[in-house]
Amino acid sequence: MNSKFNRRDFLKLAGALPLGFFSSKLAKSFGLRADQRKNVIIIVFDAWSANNIPFHGYSRETTPNISKLAERATVYHNHFAGSNFTSPGTATLLTGTLPWTHRAMLPNGTVSETYVHRNIFSVLKDHYRVAYSHNEWVNTFFSQFAGYIDEWLPKSRLFLRSSNMVIQSLFKKDSDISTVAWGRNINISDGYAYSLFLSRLISAFDNKNKSAYKPRFPRGLPVSDVDLDDGFILEDAIDWIGERVKSIDEPFMGYFHLLPPHSPYNTEKKFAGNFRSDGYKAIDKPLDVFQAEGDLDLSFRRTYYDEFILYVDSEFGRLFKMMEDAGVLENSYVILTSDHGEMFERGISGHMTSALYQPVIRVPLLIFEPGKSEHRDIYTPTSAIDILPTLAHWNNLPIPDWAEGKVLPPYQPADLADRSLYALRSYTTEKNSPLEQASVSLMKGHYKLHYYFGYSELKGNELVKLYDIESDPEEMNDLSASQKDVANKMLLELKAKLADVNKPYL
Ligand SMILES: [Zn+2]
Repeated sequence: MNSKFNRRDFLKLAGALPLGFFSSKLAKSFGLRADQRKNVIIIVFDAWSANNIPFHGYSRETTPNISKLAERATVYHNHFAGSNFTSPGTATLLTGTLPWTHRAMLPNGTVSETYVHRNIFSVLKDHYRVAYSHNEWVNTFFSQFAGYIDEWLPKSRLFLRSSNMVIQSLFKKDSDISTVAWGRNINISDGYAYSLFLSRLISAFDNKNKSAYKPRFPRGLPVSDVDLDDGFILEDAIDWIGERVKSIDEPFMGYFHLLPPHSPYNTEKKFAGNFRSDGYKAIDKPLDVFQAEGDLDLSFRRTYYDEFILYVDSEFGRLFKMMEDAGVLENSYVILTSDHGEMFERGISGHMTSALYQPVIRVPLLIFEPGKSEHRDIYTPTSAIDILPTLAHWNNLPIPDWAEGKVLPPYQPADLADRSLYALRSYTTEKNSPLEQASVSLMKGHYKLHYYFGYSELKGNELVKLYDIESDPEEMNDLSASQKDVANKMLLELKAKLADVNKPYL
C-alpha cells in the first residue's frame, strides 16, 4: 500500500463518496477488509466415491489435476457421507445432522420443518448466500431453505434445452428483462404461449444444439437426473461459478452441486476410452445379498464411470485456476466433496442399493484454506455432519447446540479418533414413521459395523457384519464371528441409538 495514501485518507475519501460506493473490493484494493469473515465455496460433485481416486489408493489415474491441487489442501482420507443417495446424503451435509434427525430419507424427500431453519444457509446468515444445483432433489432442499438463500440460480439456467441461452443472445444487455421475457413467452400453459414463435425457435435451437454437441460427447450429452432429454455440459456450470464468485459481495457462501460423475456416465470425447485397455482388474468380491438381478458388466460400467471422473477433474482444475487468477482464493475457503459414492462390485452397480460398503459412503473431502497452500493428510474418521460446525467455527460463530458433528480436525483441538459415526439408508421411511427397514453403518476407530433389517432379501432376519477398515479397507474379511465381543458391543450401541431416534415416532 502506498504510504502517501494511508488508511485514514482512505476512510476520509470513503466518507465523501456516495453511499454504496464503499465496496468490499475497493476496501481490499486499499489493503483493508470491509469484513474479516471468510468466503466459503462448497463444490459438490454428485455420486463421487473416494474409492475411485488415486490419492485415496485407487490405481487408475482418474484425477491428474485434483491430485496436483491436493498437494495444497487438507485431504480427509476417511470421510463419510450421511447416506448412500442424494436426498439423505445432501441433507446431512446441509443440516449437519444425520438422516434419522433431518428426516429427508425418501427419494426426493424433504427435511422436517425444524431443519428448514437449521442449515448452513441459516447459520451463515450474514454471508451473501448463493446456491445452484444440477440435481432436482437438491433443488427441493433449496426451495425449503429459500428464505435463507440470497441468490438461487434456477436449475434450468445451466441446462441446454430449457436454458435461457436463446433469450440471452436476443437480449444480451439486460438479463432481468430476458428472464421475465422467458417466463412469459416460453412457458406454454393450456397449449398457449405468448409467443409461439419463440417456443418453436427454442425447440429448433435444442435440436441444433444437441447435434452440435454430439461429436464432443460420443456417449450422449450429460443429462438431468429427472429428465433424460435435458442435457448439459459441465463447462457451462463451471464458467458460471468461476465468473459469479469474482463479483459477489464479501463475505459470501456459494453452494454449488454439480451432477457429474453421477450416471449416465457420458464423458467428453477426449476422455472416452482412456481406461478401456489399461489392464485394470478389480478385486474379485463375493456377491452380496443385495446384488442386483441379472448380469451386470461391472467392469465396463466402472470404466465408464472412471472416464467421467476425468471430465470432473479437468473442469474442477479449470475452475480452481479461474478462481486463483481472479484472487478469489485469497479470502475464501474452498470445500470439495460429494453427497455419496458409487460402487461396482459384489453384483451391485451405482448407488441405488441397500448395501453400505465403503465405495457408496466414503467420499472425498478436500479443503483449501484462504491464501494458504500447505498440504495435510487427515486419517481420523470424519463425516458430512462436521461441515456445518466447521463453517461456523471458521467465521467465529457459535456452534449450534443442535449440530450433531464436530469442527473438523485440525481446526479445533479434539480427540475424535474413537467417535461413533453413522451412515444410514432407509429408502421407504416416511418423515413421521419409525425405521422399520434400514441399513445402518457404525464407524468407530478402525471398526465398521454393518446392520441391515426389515428387508425381504433377509427373510425376516437381521444381518450384521464387522470389518476392520484400517487393515481391510476392501471389506473382505467379516469379523462378526471371530470378534464377537467387538461386534456385540457395537451392535448394542447402534440399537440403543435406533431406539432413541425412533422414540418420537412410535
Ligand atoms: Zn447424489
